[in-house]
Amino acid sequence: MKLSELQATLDELDATPTRSLGQNFLHDRNLAEWIVSRLEIAQGERWLEIGPGLGALTSIASEQSENGVLIEKDDRLIEFLRGRYPQLEVVHGDACRFDTRDLMAGGPLKVLGNLPYYVSSQILFNFTSDASPATALLFTLQKELAERIAAGPGGKEYGAPTVLIGRRWRVEMLRTLPPSVFLPVPKVDSAVVLLTPRPAGELTPCDGARFTTLVKLGFSQRRKQLGKLLAPALPQWAQAAEAIGIPVTSRAEALSLEQWCKLAAWKPDTGETDPSSNAQDVHGEIFDVVDEHDNVTGQASRFEVHQQHLRHRAIHIFVLNKHGELFLQKRSQWKDVCPQLWDSSAAGHVNAGRGYDETAARELEEELGVSASVQPVTRIAPCVETGFEFVGLYQAQHDGPFHLPPAEIECGEWFTTAQVAEWTAARPSDFAPGFLKCWQIWNTTRRD
Ligand code: SAM
Repeated sequence: MKLSELQATLDELDATPTRSLGQNFLHDRNLAEWIVSRLEIAQGERWLEIGPGLGALTSIASEQSENGVLIEKDDRLIEFLRGRYPQLEVVHGDACRFDTRDLMAGGPLKVLGNLPYYVSSQILFNFTSDASPATALLFTLQKELAERIAAGPGGKEYGAPTVLIGRRWRVEMLRTLPPSVFLPVPKVDSAVVLLTPRPAGELTPCDGARFTTLVKLGFSQRRKQLGKLLAPALPQWAQAAEAIGIPVTSRAEALSLEQWCKLAAWKPDTGETDPSSNAQDVHGEIFDVVDEHDNVTGQASRFEVHQQHLRHRAIHIFVLNKHGELFLQKRSQWKDVCPQLWDSSAAGHVNAGRGYDETAARELEEELGVSASVQPVTRIAPCVETGFEFVGLYQAQHDGPFHLPPAEIECGEWFTTAQVAEWTAARPSDFAPGFLKCWQIWNTTRRD
């Protein structure tokens, strides 16, 4: 949109740009084309724009794919956007509060926006969370924020946001934009950044909740040494620092992303810093083999039961919080079965000589790092979906937070049961088949 067109549209809508909504409209068509082209939206590909305003980026993105969603907070612009882009879904809402979990049922999508600067950080964190299906994010930000999230260790820009976002996303600073390309002209420079998922295995995997705790504590007072700041969560700091190879006098900004990950993965008892190294330590496992009535008839190794489709036993646990939301885990990339698919809150095999109930209690502790009363729901007969397992399905109530073993679980999130229903129906291939079976049966047993 040219400057004159933009001004005319604002007059037509009787809409003066509002500072409280961070409204600075882009009026350079070439620049808008360049920005959108960085996202490489393919024909039919799903995309979402935050704060479309008068459509500077929207008009270009919608030429590339009509499969787009717009989230705009300004009620004065909603009818205009719906009229101009009838092929797109226009959501009238606040992108900071937007529930990204609702997007899971639609599958992967690319996100873009010239963000309102007053809430850029909140929007950035919301759309890069574990419960967001974004596969790339292209944002125009205030230059200082862009520099902060793209920074390397050692400088004053490198901070908690850099490290928290950097664990899962590569951040590339593409270019800066002068204030003059916007109406009204902002007082600050802007910069365009591209976030793409960090390839699996690039950094030492670690429990996300522990990582966040350590990073927030570590950067809470930048001038203090980490030993003091991390003490509440990591009393064995000196031992950990030595294992990772960093000076005990280090401050937060001196640690690289990889060192932060190693710190979060470090365990005092084992000195372990790389959980992926023992991720597949499952080969020695022996399970009871059972008949069609679930009576034990023998024993076999994990490999044998899976390869020969022998009936064996497992448990699945559905953990619900006080709001009735279900916690789902995303299986890690190292799982031998169904890697990176979404699964029950916790699940595992019943080892030889062990019972269902004790296994359920143990799995809750091992996979989620908590103990809670675990109630049996039902027993599911072996079938292809359960991998020929008799499944003891259990339910527990807990509000988290959980500590997830990174070798087993990539991440986890709470979802409303309505979201799970919609998502499983739309995209069953996102889920481990065993979970889908449990979900189907669990729904038939629910009385509420
Ligand atoms: N994309 C347009 C462009 O490049 O010309 C507008 C960019 S302007 C910097 C930011 C836009 O975000 C405005 O349209 C504003 O109304 C919208 N906005 C402000 N706060 C928002 C929020 N919390 N959620 C969604 N949109 C918001």
